[in-house]
Amino acid sequence: MSPLTARILHLQRFSTEDGPGIRTTVFFKGCPLRCAWCHNPESMSPNPQLQWLETRCIGCNTCIQTCPQGNLRRAPNGSLHIARDDCLACGKCVDACPANALEMLGHTVSLEDLLAEVLKDRSYYETSGGGITASGGEPGLQADFVAEFFRRLKQEHLSTAFDTCGLIASAAFEKILPYTDWLLYDLKEIDEEKHRRFTSQGNQRILQNLLQIGEWMNDFPTLHLWIRTPLIPGATARTDNLLGIGDFLIKNLNGKVERWELCAFNNLCRDKYRRLGMDWDYQHTPLLTAEELTTLTEAARVSGFPPDLIIPTGATRVQVLETEGETL
Ligand code: SF4
Ligand code: SF4
Repeated sequence: MSPLTARILHLQRFSTEDGPGIRTTVFFKGCPLRCAWCHNPESMSPNPQLQWLETRCIGCNTCIQTCPQGNLRRAPNGSLHIARDDCLACGKCVDACPANALEMLGHTVSLEDLLAEVLKDRSYYETSGGGITASGGEPGLQADFVAEFFRRLKQEHLSTAFDTCGLIASAAFEKILPYTDWLLYDLKEIDEEKHRRFTSQGNQRILQNLLQIGEWMNDFPTLHLWIRTPLIPGATARTDNLLGIGDFLIKNLNGKVERWELCAFNNLCRDKYRRLGMDWDYQHTPLLTAEELTTLTEAARVSGFPPDLIIPTGATRVQVLETEGETL
């Protein structure tokens, strides 16, 4: 029995957006970035977090009476206030709630248990060309676990994908890449100052790691490299950003990038922020229009990056013709 354990959020089965084919994605907890638009706010902290599901709550106040820390109280607007800084994540309120209205996000899993779980879907992987993806959060923060997890999956002849923000030690890549088939690498913003403003960290190490990976790819010729750029209104969704990233890829990784995904902003995570008691600057930000996505995709093409390898993804806003009230 391996002593290795990891802190994860959950598994997502039948995922089709985290690499090729049908995949099971494992979301690891903890991330070095704080992207203002983050779609997985529950994955930022490496620690377990309590969330309150308002629609399930029957207002019995059992949780308030149960918490040994006195961390819970009813706010004037009727919502449950959680003193998060003092929460020990003991889970006593979760166990006591009769309506399953409290959940602890994040749990520790052993390597053997995680392997047993993902192997249940082997037939889907094999018939679809899919496999298992490590995502998050940043799985590279738990590099020893991910490397051994992938090594065991390769022993089972299964496909592995590593979805990373790039801001990890190069030693973490050295551990994980020998057992990785698909590397899904985020390149969000080419401008150092803007990257720091949008994500809390500069992009120097992210770019340096990518350059290093380009060199290592000579030793791992079967590694598939996908670059992913989120298109966030008012932030990364700028033509100069797409031109700059495309230019960087051509100059430094020409012929090595198999696909450049442009991932349009979505707001499906709105409720996650509310449940965690967090504010979100993008609460009311509209989706990109189809025209905006076309313009940004065109900028990526103008950079000289091979057009057939540029893949726009994600939802766009449906346009309404004001004069005719007709949807396009
Ligand atoms: S997890 Fe424990 S400490 Fe945190 S609010 Fe619930 S009972 Fe209190
Ligand atoms: S115990 Fe559950 S149902 Fe009762 S008030 Fe607390 S969260 Fe709501």
